[in-house]
Amino acid sequence: MSLVYLNGQFLPLEEARISVTDRGFMFGDGVYEVIPVYKRRPLALEQHLDRLNQSLSGIRMDNPLPRDSWRSLIAELVQREPSDDQSLYIQLTRGAAPRDHAFPQDVMPTLFAMAKPLVPPPARWLQEGVLAITHPDFRWLQCHLKTTALLANVMLRQKAVDQGAAECILLRDGYLTEGAASNVLVVVDGVLLSPPGNHLLLSGITLSLVMELARQHGVPTEERPVTESVLRCAEEIMLTSSVREIIPVTRLDNQPVGSGKPGPLFSRLLSLYQGVKHT
Ligand code: PMP
Repeated sequence: MSLVYLNGQFLPLEEARISVTDRGFMFGDGVYEVIPVYKRRPLALEQHLDRLNQSLSGIRMDNPLPRDSWRSLIAELVQREPSDDQSLYIQLTRGAAPRDHAFPQDVMPTLFAMAKPLVPPPARWLQEGVLAITHPDFRWLQCHLKTTALLANVMLRQKAVDQGAAECILLRDGYLTEGAASNVLVVVDGVLLSPPGNHLLLSGITLSLVMELARQHGVPTEERPVTESVLRCAEEIMLTSSVREIIPVTRLDNQPVGSGKPGPLFSRLLSLYQGVKHT
């Protein structure tokens, strides 16, 4: 039975209860983080806690815990979960209050966290690559905040699943933003490109680790806007996220990407990333 943390208590998942008036339930009024844990060590923990702070200040919520308390809470959850490789989920909402759009006064936030075994992506995805579809990005203009209000992302990911695809790659006004739940990297003329960080996409921790690894190993990288036509004739396309790590896209809207097989840069970055996970 897995143990979770809710508002100051560790308890079995089945016993964790929140109010139906919780603003997370009513409005999606909250933020979250997902932190990968390898061999019981959270990867890039400080970057995840920094991003949590950014998301909180973006929705005008105070962080209820100092950094040290976050570290100890996370260490305790990791230690209580039997698996060595884990996916840690943290969620904060503005708390339970009578339903009203405007912020309630003097309400305790709801703090929930749980660790569960990390399920690696299917080996076939890494060997053969995946199909991704494209779709207009119809989300709001605050996509740099990791909020629990994920309905648009949910609808977009389901469109991909309905078509047997692993991800939905989003285009806004003719430019690549990101995936429904991942960042997108594109290889053009041997250069690893990512769209510039702004309010239209989440600043992915995996993306920044992969870009940093690429730079350290002499792979040319650039942050610049990627048009739909550049995306469609890319040599390689990769998805990054904390849970899926790096996934090669070998078909985009049923057209082959590059050779139609996972590319050389993907293989190189994946093996470099495996090294980082276990250092
Ligand atoms: N963009 C979106 C919309 C996401 O949901 C995710 C996964 N949380 C990412 C990008 C990747 O972020 P990270 O590498 O920090 O998991």
